[in-house]
Amino acid sequence: MKNLLGGKGANLAEMASIGLPVPPGFTLTTEVCTHYYQNDCQYPAELKEQVSKALALVETRTGRKFGDATNPLLVSVRSGARASMPGMMDTVLNLGLNNTTVEALAKQSGDRRFAFDSYRRFVQMYSDVVLGIELGNFEKLLERAKAKRGVKQDHELLPEDLEQLVKNYKACVYLELGEEFPEEPHQQLWGAVGAVFGSWMNQRAKTYRKLHDIPEEWGTAVNVQAMVFGNMGNDCATGVAFTRNPSNGAKDFYGEFLVNAQGEDVVAGIRTPQELTIKARKSHGSDLPSLEEVMPSIFQELEKVRHQLENHYTDMQDIEFTIQQGKLYMLQTRTGKRTAHAALQIAVDMASEGLISKSQALMRLKPDLIDQLLHPTLDPKAKKTVIAKGLPASPGAAAGKVVFTADEAVTRSENGEKVILVRVETSPDDIHGLHAAEGVLTTRGGMTSHAAVVARGMGRPCVAGAGEVKVNYASASFEVGNVVVKEGQLVTIDGVTGEVMLGEVPTVPPQLSGSFGTIMAWADEFRTMQVRANAETPTDARQAKEFGCEGIGLVRTEHMFFEGGRIVAMRQMILAADKAERQSALNKLLAMQREDITELFKIMDGLPVTVRLLDPPLHEFIPHTEAEMGLVAKAAGVPLERVRRRASELQEANPMLGHRGCRLAITYPEICEMQARAIFEAAAEVGRSAKKTPVAEVMVPLVSTLEELVQLKKVIEDTAKQVQKEQGVNFRYHVGTMVELPRAALQAGKLAEQAEFFSFGTNDLTQTTYGLSRDDAGSFLPEYKAKGIVETDPFVSLDQEGVGELIKIAVERGRGKRAGMKMGICGEHGGDPASIEFCEKTGLDYVSCSPFRVPIARLAAAQAAL
Ligand code: PEP
Ligand code: MG
Repeated sequence: MKNLLGGKGANLAEMASIGLPVPPGFTLTTEVCTHYYQNDCQYPAELKEQVSKALALVETRTGRKFGDATNPLLVSVRSGARASMPGMMDTVLNLGLNNTTVEALAKQSGDRRFAFDSYRRFVQMYSDVVLGIELGNFEKLLERAKAKRGVKQDHELLPEDLEQLVKNYKACVYLELGEEFPEEPHQQLWGAVGAVFGSWMNQRAKTYRKLHDIPEEWGTAVNVQAMVFGNMGNDCATGVAFTRNPSNGAKDFYGEFLVNAQGEDVVAGIRTPQELTIKARKSHGSDLPSLEEVMPSIFQELEKVRHQLENHYTDMQDIEFTIQQGKLYMLQTRTGKRTAHAALQIAVDMASEGLISKSQALMRLKPDLIDQLLHPTLDPKAKKTVIAKGLPASPGAAAGKVVFTADEAVTRSENGEKVILVRVETSPDDIHGLHAAEGVLTTRGGMTSHAAVVARGMGRPCVAGAGEVKVNYASASFEVGNVVVKEGQLVTIDGVTGEVMLGEVPTVPPQLSGSFGTIMAWADEFRTMQVRANAETPTDARQAKEFGCEGIGLVRTEHMFFEGGRIVAMRQMILAADKAERQSALNKLLAMQREDITELFKIMDGLPVTVRLLDPPLHEFIPHTEAEMGLVAKAAGVPLERVRRRASELQEANPMLGHRGCRLAITYPEICEMQARAIFEAAAEVGRSAKKTPVAEVMVPLVSTLEELVQLKKVIEDTAKQVQKEQGVNFRYHVGTMVELPRAALQAGKLAEQAEFFSFGTNDLTQTTYGLSRDDAGSFLPEYKAKGIVETDPFVSLDQEGVGELIKIAVERGRGKRAGMKMGICGEHGGDPASIEFCEKTGLDYVSCSPFRVPIARLAAAQAAL
């Protein structure tokens, strides 16, 4: 019941119902929050009575009474939204303490110091969260108390110091507010409830929601729960744990705890936490004993809880626990955030353990996670100057200029600079900076510290707790030994090893792990659509093949001419004044093109390769500078003046809608002939030498009328016949067309008379359906998004209602004419999971996308089919 109770509330109820030791409590639902905001911050009329009944039940269960002078009930009041928003909203602990109940707590615990420490923490937290008084006021008073006693640490203060401190805190509240600190527990409770609901609208919660697409209407629940104490002595502790390693997915119990502490102390990273297991302690070389050693029987109980939770939720859990005087309490469980690498490993392991099915494993993985795995890591051969080492908190390598504040990270990244955010520790207030940075380095805190958790969630590399790094915010620099690094200086961090290096260290492509291969193989079992790649260079084609593509869905032949001196021949061809000149350029291009396509056929080894005829928007090729024109004139052996004139003749007002695509081949059929020849000669050559015969698919771009296709198909077929005759071989080939103009989609029935296949060019189809320039949309689309006119950039995720409708029409009309006609997509949308789902629903046979998106598409296609 997450929607109603929030994640925390639902999971507490769930844990209680499966018999785990959960302190009694109750939840004010998210509906109360929604009501509160819709009714001028008023609660529903029946709430008061319901809360008092629930509180009475908690009193019965705990055998304590709220505000009682001998046996008082103390509660925590915490937020809990539907989606986890770690640390974004407010919490109040130890609520119910006042001048009377604190004495009872002192008596019951036999520890006056503990009782007054809880009391002063409560007054401080309540004043901050509920009364809105600056924390700095209390920190000053605390420092003063320590100075007066002549001690450094909080816990060295004596009970009477703390007692006095509470008085001073309260005096401060009176000075700030002109009102006494509330003593009455029910008044405290309603104050805290109001503050938690109020924190749903605080700035950092709003930012977090925006970053994570969490709707405002969801609201938060409020959990009121009996307090248990991890700070009542040395038989008490508090900790956080993951049921498996969130960084690499290993099936290890992974967590940290602190003896005699409250939960906040662990995440705040103020004291160095201890490991849960002996194994982890040894592997991290820690000299502090593990929980397994300090409290072996509690550890065993926790191990049992770990298994029970995993079996119940069938997923990795992130838990919080407290040990009060030798008794274990579970305070929270939720699905644990994990790195992409861990997500894959855990999904594969859990399916192998029989905890979940293969299809569940696949459905659990967000396709975009795969993206994180495909990113570079440090080149092992690169020279590196390691200056410090911290915990490997979130994998991946990142380099950038050092910044020390979240705001600076945002400012610099908006100016196009890559930055590494360096902080002593991070807090929820730094969330925008973590997002803007390439990576994060902290000097305090463990694997479960705020920085580590958030960075893992965002897929940012993070090195946490690098204690040797001494940050000096005032001088905007940090020091390690005798090295000083100033703001703006380049550093590299490696979230896999925890190393911090000077300068920018080169990276290498990722090594894909065993679980990656397993997930991909499972995806292939379930998906029905094929996945091809858009590739024109051998490097890209090889990469795509390695990533498991099943052919090339789009060779943009014009891109083959962007490299080196080739552009000159291309320009010579485009600027040719007559047929002879054009032929001379074409001959040069023929040789290059044949060589390229031969290579692609060889790499694809019998898989289909769709070669598209030239489709350059001419302006991309026209030389602009005098030097470029000089080169073309020289190559063509013509006067510079002629090149200049021709270039200016070819200037178009609207090149994207101009003389491009098949229009070029219609006016210069010799271009079409050259390309067809290159393709077929390559097919003949590879067909003779390779074991598997190549499958050549010749694709005509930017078609809008049947007649364009008729004329060009004739040129292609005539060329095929000629090459077959010249070479004395037969080869397989197909002629098809791009569907990338609305007219082509509407005329698909007719086009299918000639075309053997369709490939939807959704880049141009989006451009022309919307009448929205591909090259210019960037200047106003962000505002369209901000104003809610479009939800997502239609060039990123297919506009299913408009462009999608045209695709559906084309599929229906095309297949109506040519039954079972092969159809795919080769626009950028072919690598976008939501668009892939649409393609599956629409009955396409394949998607084609850039090489690095091939694995993402394989997974997304499987999910679409499931
Ligand atoms: C398209 O328009 O979707 C397409 C794949 O072609 P290009 O991006 O080369 O115009
Ligand atoms: Mg196009």
